[in-house]
Amino acid sequence: MNILVIEDEPGICRFLKEGLEEEGYHVTVASDGTKGLEQFNRSKPDLILLDRMLPGSDGIAVCREIRKSDKDTPVLFLTARDTVDETVEGLRAGANDYIKKPFSFEELLERIKIHFRKKQEDEPLTLGDLSLNKTTRQVFNGGAEVTLTQREFDLLEFLVRNKGCICTRDEIIDKVWNINFEYDTGVIDVYMNSLRKKLRMDKESGFIKTVRGVGYIANTFGKH
Ligand code: CA
Repeated sequence: MNILVIEDEPGICRFLKEGLEEEGYHVTVASDGTKGLEQFNRSKPDLILLDRMLPGSDGIAVCREIRKSDKDTPVLFLTARDTVDETVEGLRAGANDYIKKPFSFEELLERIKIHFRKKQEDEPLTLGDLSLNKTTRQVFNGGAEVTLTQREFDLLEFLVRNKGCICTRDEIIDKVWNINFEYDTGVIDVYMNSLRKKLRMDKESGFIKTVRGVGYIANTFGKH
């Protein structure tokens, strides 16, 4: 995970870079707004820590500029200012969070983790040409929307979420049907047949393969 720190105080920059690198993050630092925007375009970070008061263009202007081309990358303001107006202004500019200086490193780290988790949850699940939006529960196959039933969606989501791993029939019944007792797993095949038909997937060469006697596996090696 790449974090871009845009901050003009060398002491804070060093403190953040060392601390975050120790936690396993890759950190790029920029000391003013202009360099920050250059770095943002070059390194495509996963998250941005942005100082509110910067020489040249301030944090608010930098955030607005970023949001012109990128609506998703979390931006966390670091600031000594914390009046309600300032907070609102930051959030209106498109920031996701506001951290008041002086902050504890542990608190910052927790906030970063929360935003990374949220970002991952918001990202669509994909498998080859398939894309699943978990929030709207829409499925697109090569850009064309496919209408699935609730259960078909849950089944597909489970397989795609675990892509590359074999999902056993018992696991599928347990996690998708919420049945954790002995149950006829033949129902899975009925749903799989319908799912494959709707997704126009070939039984043998599609993205979701049958593992005979065990279950199913989703992987991107198959072809439509
Ligand atoms: Ca500053």
